[in-house]
Amino acid sequence: MTIPDSYAVFGFPIKHSKSPRIHQLFAEQTAQNLTYTAQEVPATHFQAMAQTFFREGGKGLNCTVPLKELAWQFADHLTERAQFAKAVNTLALQADGSILGDNTDGKGLVTDLIINQKVLLSNQSVLILGAGGATRGIINPLLSLNPAQLVIANRTVEKARHLASEFSNSEAQITGCGFAALAGEQFDVIINATAASLSDDLPPLPPNILAEKGCCYDLAYSTQPTAFVRWGQQPNAAINVDGLGMLIEQAAEAFYLWRGVRPDTQAVIRLFSVHDKKQLVEQRS
Ligand code: NDP
Repeated sequence: MTIPDSYAVFGFPIKHSKSPRIHQLFAEQTAQNLTYTAQEVPATHFQAMAQTFFREGGKGLNCTVPLKELAWQFADHLTERAQFAKAVNTLALQADGSILGDNTDGKGLVTDLIINQKVLLSNQSVLILGAGGATRGIINPLLSLNPAQLVIANRTVEKARHLASEFSNSEAQITGCGFAALAGEQFDVIINATAASLSDDLPPLPPNILAEKGCCYDLAYSTQPTAFVRWGQQPNAAINVDGLGMLIEQAAEAFYLWRGVRPDTQAVIRLFSVHDKKQLVEQRS
């Protein structure tokens, strides 16, 4: 039997990562001979551990919080979308021994929004909450879908303004502001890309900000509804979901980069949704 190719996700913390299970399911589906492990890697150890991983024969890494910027610096060369994002979530060993850095987060979000949730973005008014690494990765893919306007609102206002100005030569109107400036505005699609959900917190949003039949999308995901998903449980919302679909779609894009085959994400999304619902019932009973 041939030795399986080795892949891993690095992050801190990483204990609850769903990525090993997702990639194991992809590998079974597509008959790929590989292993995929989760390794707890603090930022201070990232460079040395990534070097060791590839030196010992590793083929590819996923990098998550707080390592995406370090992975961007680590890569020998970058895909166009990773250059824009200034953050890398996927490293791939190339035939010549160099390391390619990619960012599959934006593709993951857009695929989940457009294909799985059937959300239209063309001519829609879109609000992104947060101006961190995830926001950087999703701006260009969202702009490519021609929204009427894209507003980035952040707790640290300057970061939102700065980020918006980096993309200001796009055709869509893109602006950055603080949460207070959202009073009186309405949006068709509201994407929560803050880390607030991780501490069951919610950015301060004014009333009536979601347009009729609007979409609420939390990048964070959890077995329990996140604070933002609970906020989205309102009559105006036609769609109100967390980031599980994005997680699985960005993983599929990384898998494709590494293996050259596209897994069936629908089957994996169904499996996780059923599993998460079962866990929730068990926790509540
Ligand atoms: P960063 O640490 O880079 O950025 C965090 C952002 O959240 C900043 O804009 C920060 O504001 C803001 N923030 C943090 N806490 C609060 C709060 N209590 N209230 C309001 N704003 C707050 O994180 P990332 O951008 O990498 O990740 C953001 C989220 O996206 C995380 O929940 C992560 O799990 C999720 N994610 C999900 C993915 C998926 O596949 N589903 C992929 C990537 C990310 P400030 O600038 O003022 O500090």
